[in-house]
Amino acid sequence: MFLPRRFAELSAQFASLPGIGPKAADRLVFYLLDQPDDQVQALAESLVAAKREIAFCRRCGNFAQGDLCEVCRDTSRDVKLLCVVEEIRDLAAIEKTGAYRGLYHVLHGRIDPISRVGPAELQLERLAERISRDQVGEVIIATNPNFNGDITAMYIAKLLAGLPQVRVTRIATGIPKGSDLEFADIFTLTQALEKRTDVQV
Ligand SMILES: [Zn+2]
Repeated sequence: MFLPRRFAELSAQFASLPGIGPKAADRLVFYLLDQPDDQVQALAESLVAAKREIAFCRRCGNFAQGDLCEVCRDTSRDVKLLCVVEEIRDLAAIEKTGAYRGLYHVLHGRIDPISRVGPAELQLERLAERISRDQVGEVIIATNPNFNGDITAMYIAKLLAGLPQVRVTRIATGIPKGSDLEFADIFTLTQALEKRTDVQV
């Protein structure tokens, strides 16, 4: 190895990140070592501060700096409308459309029989409690259009069927079957939200 040990250490750290191979990791280290000290310092501080200060929103499970996330803090949001998503990245995809003005509930997972993830791991009881407490009028289930997303949606619909005041809908299937919300383009996702249909249980 013709490069210092620290170089290899940092490169290995980058290479452990998703989507970054060993060559790209080396390029990042070369780039950073070429930058002014204060710029690298700012990057390191930003990384540590983000990890230290960002937690999950107490209400919806989105990332939050403080108790509540930016969506839950926004008083112009329709609190009677709740969108259930599997992951924060799905919330981000829906937010990018600008077509949705309600609140969210992030499951941080999906029912997955093969990996033995059941409803208990997703804290679905908390969702039902929240809907009753906040008198939510409509729940839009926006789990991914694949096998696990479908069975999760069906489970939630059945769970909420006992709550008379709530309408339960599912985003339309404009999104290709088997794919993820986060990869859908803004137009397709907006259409899927607008053309949502009532879930029959
Ligand atoms: Zn929130």
